Amino acid sequence: MHKEVYSICFMCTVRCPIKVTVEDGAVRWIEGNPHQLKGALCAKGSAGTALLNDSERLRYPMIRVGARGEGRWKRVSWEEALAYSAEKLQEVISKHGPESVVFGERQNLNTHLSKTFMRALGSPNHYTHDALCKGSVNTAFRTLTGYTDAQVTIDYANCKHIVLYGRNIFESLELKPIQALMDAMEKGSRITYIDTRATITASKAHRFWLIRPGTDLALNYALMNVILRENLYDETYVNRWVSGLNELRGFVEAMTPEWAEEETGIPAEEIVALAREISRDKPQVVFHYGYRGANHTNEIYFRRSIIMLNALMGSIESKGGLIIKKTAKDAGYGAFAKLVDQEGLPKPKAPRFDGVGGDLLPICDPAHGVGQQLPLAILKEQPYPIKAAISYRFDPLLSIPDYNQNKRAFDKLDFILTIDVNFSETAWYSDVVLPESMYLERSDSLQMADGPRPTIYMRRQCVPPRYDTKPYWEIIKLLAENLGVGKFFPYNTIEDIWNYQLKDMGIPLEKFEAKGFVALSDKPIIWDRKDGIKFKTPSGKIEFISSLMEEKGFASLEPYQSPSAPPEGMFRLTVGRNAVHTHVSTQNNPYLNELVPTNVLWINTVEAAKLGISDGQYVEVSSDQGWGRIKAFVTDLIHPEAVFMLHGFGRQVPVTTRCYNKGASDTALQKNITDMVGGSPGLHDTFVRVRPA
Ligand code: SF4
Repeated sequence: MHKEVYSICFMCTVRCPIKVTVEDGAVRWIEGNPHQLKGALCAKGSAGTALLNDSERLRYPMIRVGARGEGRWKRVSWEEALAYSAEKLQEVISKHGPESVVFGERQNLNTHLSKTFMRALGSPNHYTHDALCKGSVNTAFRTLTGYTDAQVTIDYANCKHIVLYGRNIFESLELKPIQALMDAMEKGSRITYIDTRATITASKAHRFWLIRPGTDLALNYALMNVILRENLYDETYVNRWVSGLNELRGFVEAMTPEWAEEETGIPAEEIVALAREISRDKPQVVFHYGYRGANHTNEIYFRRSIIMLNALMGSIESKGGLIIKKTAKDAGYGAFAKLVDQEGLPKPKAPRFDGVGGDLLPICDPAHGVGQQLPLAILKEQPYPIKAAISYRFDPLLSIPDYNQNKRAFDKLDFILTIDVNFSETAWYSDVVLPESMYLERSDSLQMADGPRPTIYMRRQCVPPRYDTKPYWEIIKLLAENLGVGKFFPYNTIEDIWNYQLKDMGIPLEKFEAKGFVALSDKPIIWDRKDGIKFKTPSGKIEFISSLMEEKGFASLEPYQSPSAPPEGMFRLTVGRNAVHTHVSTQNNPYLNELVPTNVLWINTVEAAKLGISDGQYVEVSSDQGWGRIKAFVTDLIHPEAVFMLHGFGRQVPVTTRCYNKGASDTALQKNITDMVGGSPGLHDTFVRVRPA
């Protein structure tokens, strides 16, 4: 039998709409949804079938019988695994209180169910991976506009000039924006790309600057200096929508292009040229605020400077600029419902484990938390003992900087539960593993994608589960029932969840059949730039001097501090992604592993020669946190102060045979330090030593 199913990809968090061809119960073909993506799919999306058929993913529930990490497991029934997990969680709760349980996940369609579960237990401790990825971008946006970065999008199709700071947009990609950007480039749109190494994005850019690591903020201050000195900003927009311009003018007065040249290595006249060039195209220009913005401990000020440059260009809520995402309500519909908003769900009173909302991290976003604080909170038992960790499709051991410290922290836990598709490092170190059906085998909660045209997407099951796995919405309900809080999960089928989500919107489920999604607006909704923009700051404006920051004692404009150069013989470790792998989740995928089986260490040609390292030779990379063995990639295309490696390798789970022990782990080397204003970890704030292995 032949059928075509519209669904949503989940090989990465972008969640592109897809069309899946199924013949006789087997997936034969996956392509991008032709109604939105012209059939296109990336390499990872195409490798979904390899994940489906992979016998090295999690296949049945397991309870650990050996020591943690030893790899001795007992296969058990779902009933036994859930009852055992509930018993262990109950023990922890009885002894240490519900706040001693922490739940971490990569943000997904079912996050409203995870949050419901934690609130039902009485714990405030739910976090997502977001802080690790871009906590300071989120905070920067909220300090300036009242919106999070996730509530803003970019109109690539109409953008005339985009500036990318290490945003490797053609490798760490999202299909729809990339299609729009490439179309815009065909029509003459320009790209300026700034990074510490030459990526594929650099090769497509009109201007590429190899910047000294950690000095992008100096560049931005110099751009502001030129823009304000030469009156290149959008005066009408700024007068109407920006507060604090005079303070900014005084602040950047001394930060000239000549000063920035010393810091960044970028010639002063080129900085002036960019400021003049981009202002000619305003407001249809974008300074990209970064998808992964977690580099340094002063990240908040860099990300704020990017958003401020957009404000000066008048490009926030502009065609070809940044657009505040519109909700179902903006499109004239009722609200999209989430189970976590249901009446009667407890509101836990205890402070959060990570200090968000308290004295430690007062202005970070409690909707996501600051996950990298978890090992520190466990080890210090502050603000209280943490004794159980639940991870859902998130691998804290391998994702949070300082892998060895993470393991020491997890050793202190009484119970570790992992729910995942893959055998992550954390799953391997867990007490119970509950296997989730992979995305082609399950339906999920609906996705409400806010945007200029708010749209609801549906992930539909394409084939039955190949192994003894379950969808998450069922797993979490069963776990809740075993813990006596099942009443907060008032559904039996996925259709019950869908109907609940749509209950106030008047959209029947059949409407999703034709295309797999329902758009709530025929055309983009853009607010009137003269009077209609609804900034959510106390002043209703873009606040260069932020009420949120100043109230909590943080300076809105912090004097620039030059990053220290690495000590002799050491390098600044930089990390990132390519077009083939997603974070830490695809390294063992049969197809993707074949394409990129390992990572390598990019090192500058001159620096490598000084150390006697040749291309392809194994080197040892070490820091105070750990070490790794990896092949060197000797190249002119990286700044001499930096080395670079792909994230997600150096895996230590023997049953994932394709990626086991290949390359080195960046998190084994990185220090766990945080921007204590914005919430991001300083992923590029570790110096490493490199020597021939
Ligand atoms: S970018 Fe690729 S992997 Fe990610 S959702 Fe889209 S198709 Fe899937």
